[in-house]
Amino acid sequence: KFQTRGVETCFHGRHIQPQIYAGLDGRNWRLADYVARGGYSALKKILGADGGPGLTPDQVIAEIKLSALRGRGGAGFPTGLKWSFMPRQYPGPKYLVCNSDEGEPGTCKDRDILSYNPHVVIEGMCIAAYAMGIRTGYNYIHGEIFEVYQRFEEALDEARAAGFLGDNILGSQHGFQLHAFHGFGAYICGEETALLESLEGKKGQPRFKPPFPASFGLYGKPTTINNTETFAAVPWIINHGGQAYLEVGKPNNGGTKIYSVVGDVERPGNFEVPMGTPFATLLELAGGVKGGKLKAVIPGGSSAPVLPAKVMMDLTMDYDAIAKAGSMLGSGAVIVMNDTRCMVRSLLRLSYFYQHESCGQCTPCREGTGWLWRLVDRIETGKGRAEDLALLDSVADGIKGRTICALGDAAAMPVQGMLKHFRDEFAYHVEHRTCMVSQPV
Ligand code: SF4
Repeated sequence: KFQTRGVETCFHGRHIQPQIYAGLDGRNWRLADYVARGGYSALKKILGADGGPGLTPDQVIAEIKLSALRGRGGAGFPTGLKWSFMPRQYPGPKYLVCNSDEGEPGTCKDRDILSYNPHVVIEGMCIAAYAMGIRTGYNYIHGEIFEVYQRFEEALDEARAAGFLGDNILGSQHGFQLHAFHGFGAYICGEETALLESLEGKKGQPRFKPPFPASFGLYGKPTTINNTETFAAVPWIINHGGQAYLEVGKPNNGGTKIYSVVGDVERPGNFEVPMGTPFATLLELAGGVKGGKLKAVIPGGSSAPVLPAKVMMDLTMDYDAIAKAGSMLGSGAVIVMNDTRCMVRSLLRLSYFYQHESCGQCTPCREGTGWLWRLVDRIETGKGRAEDLALLDSVADGIKGRTICALGDAAAMPVQGMLKHFRDEFAYHVEHRTCMVSQPV
């Protein structure tokens, strides 16, 4: 079982202040610790509570746009642009939602952010609410992490008591009520519209889009949804400026990113490094490959197509580089596999996950994910037929782009990635009814 060990920060000799993590050890998460580290100074800055002129909502959004902060939940959508979609003069209620429904296999960063530094998320959300003129927010926390939910509730109580949440925050006109919501542990509730349905007390099933949440979100009102890590990046951007954040990373990929490095590495854990850090450096931080040589890496959570070692070792970890190589940075879970891993067996585990988590609403996903799982199972258990590889490809093609939400694509892409790079292993399984690697998992 994978255990997170907190977050390590590495800036490779670049003398910049860590953004989300600053010597955190799991005991210094309280408001007093956060304030001692300079916490809530960004909120004071925008509201003019630090004696300065304050920032207008437009100025806040401009800084976020300049920073090139992209959504850390998986899609990588530009955050400043998303904030600018919120209708500012809308007469009724509008909502801000934090997506902490982290469930992507391999990903374990958001729960550590909420455990080690919950106030940075609260401050980031409060700033976002100010920028978009929103007065109510929710943090939807994954149902299987109860201690994290309890800690966030405690942090909310502290922030309310200190006047960082509620009406007239720090004596300003800005008011923001933030609530925690404990989810139910379904993977699909990480999809933003399923999350909204669940938050409304309904079955967590994705909605057809359009309309998008920016115009028809929670209770049919304009809603902005961002990931936990995205909100956590906001206070640093406001304190240091969008340009400084951009320069930490690379063009179009600003700032740092937390990677959950898991699988066959000596020191699995979360690592916060600048965008554009070479994969080889990240692997070194995680102690290198364990139990064999590097064979393959899934660079962005289980939905991302696998990439072979020779491709990964030349890549930098950022949205554009990974996309150019034919995969996705996704949520930043880096699943490392050594050369004793059987790719058929690995795909079987992934396929089981997706057929289990499909909400069943649309036919290509509901039926197709089951087909994929049964086909891979047939190959893995030595009953594969010569035509099965083509059939796998064709079923994956039949799902991709034909479903309501991205879970269908997420189930199909790993299949096609595996067949593209490791087809010979699948063919060997079919032909020899056994595995070609020495120690199958
Ligand atoms: Fe549900 Fe799958 Fe359709 Fe998404 S793609 S709505 S998970 S059936």
